[in-house]
Amino acid sequence: TGRPVVADLDAAALTTLHATLLDEYAALQARGLRLDITRGKPSPEQLDLAQPLLGLPGEDDFRAADGTDTRNYGGLAGLPELRAIYADLLGIPVEQLLASGTSSLTVMFDVLAYAFLFGRDGSPQPWGREEKVRWICPVPGYDRHFAMLEHLGIEMVTVDQTPDGPDVEAIARLVADDPTIKGLWLVPTYSNPGGETTSAEVAARLAAMPAAAPDFTVLWDNAYAVHHLTDDESKAVDVLGLAAASGHPDRFVVFASTSKVTFAGAGVAFLAGSPSTVAWYLRHLAFGSIGPDKVNHLRHVRFLRDADGVRAHMHRHREILEPKFGAVLDTLDARLGGTGTATWNTPRGGYFVSLDVVDGTARRVVELAREAGIALTPAGASFPYGHDPRDRNIRIAPTFPPVDEIRVAIDGLATCVLLAAVEQRLS
Ligand code: PMP
Repeated sequence: TGRPVVADLDAAALTTLHATLLDEYAALQARGLRLDITRGKPSPEQLDLAQPLLGLPGEDDFRAADGTDTRNYGGLAGLPELRAIYADLLGIPVEQLLASGTSSLTVMFDVLAYAFLFGRDGSPQPWGREEKVRWICPVPGYDRHFAMLEHLGIEMVTVDQTPDGPDVEAIARLVADDPTIKGLWLVPTYSNPGGETTSAEVAARLAAMPAAAPDFTVLWDNAYAVHHLTDDESKAVDVLGLAAASGHPDRFVVFASTSKVTFAGAGVAFLAGSPSTVAWYLRHLAFGSIGPDKVNHLRHVRFLRDADGVRAHMHRHREILEPKFGAVLDTLDARLGGTGTATWNTPRGGYFVSLDVVDGTARRVVELAREAGIALTPAGASFPYGHDPRDRNIRIAPTFPPVDEIRVAIDGLATCVLLAAVEQRLS
């Protein structure tokens, strides 16, 4: 493009560029924008796709396939025919997959709480009695995962995400001889925020690696398992099969939900694991529940029908989301490509674009954007304790706003990225 690389500019050229960017930024502020690209939630048009759910199962339809009256108590494991749909999608035997309430995050927190109060099968003692519990967190990652650990007093240790998943060599070293390392978070498909998919090879290493803690647990949060944006679709890896074959059958607890398939707030969450992990979970859950919302389960069965029904439905999401992600990527490329001030991923699925700006400028970029009416996720949000050691990562969530707003917001963001980079060189 012939655009200057900011790092290569001499003092005079920097001063000129700074003046131009200050004018551009003043014009941006003068527009009085109020834009928000912080929220990783579905847009109203996406929610509209599932509107028929509101009329289902219908006034006369409340019996499950086996005759169960879904209006009544019972069926702690969830409706078998709904479990079968997600078992099919995720490649997990249906007996090993449960359908639960509306939030997978709640199920994850329950799993950790049960481990803290009672221990997992094979735990030397409840985790809450351990002097120290540590957890491996691939970064950048999902802020709510980190907040959950912080709330429980679990100490977080970071490893880098790579294009094939988390740095598995670093993980193997950490778990090998430190029994305080009890677990690992992982978003295996189109991770939040970097969009990476964990390869089958990395998954196999995780399943097989020796761990000092006998109850080392991988929380495999497959939140974006079916959320493709291209024809190059990631396939779910059979981690439970790999783990069983490697002699660590209980290592993985798998999560998924329909939050970004049907309704984010009135969907269905799923948990899967080895037969003994599922039994462990149900044993504790039974004290807190007589059964899940089976009417909602039935509603989802009627609407989604089968695994192919989910795939077809997700294709309609893709049609809405592709132009939005396209707008982000085109605008970043048009404004920042070749300037050496930012790198970003091209996601094949999921909900985010992860933008890395010049080291030490992410907080400044977010501040500049805020003062121009563009709300960004706080810098550092994708790191434990909100601390990005390089202060460079910004998570962009393009699903909710309309395409034209996304273009304006990313264009404004680009001005802030350039301005912060030039300011840093001048300081
Ligand atoms: N896991 C990940 C990785 C997510 O990005 C999100 C939503 N932002 C969730 C879990 C939340 O899932 P649920 O709505 O099922 O609680």
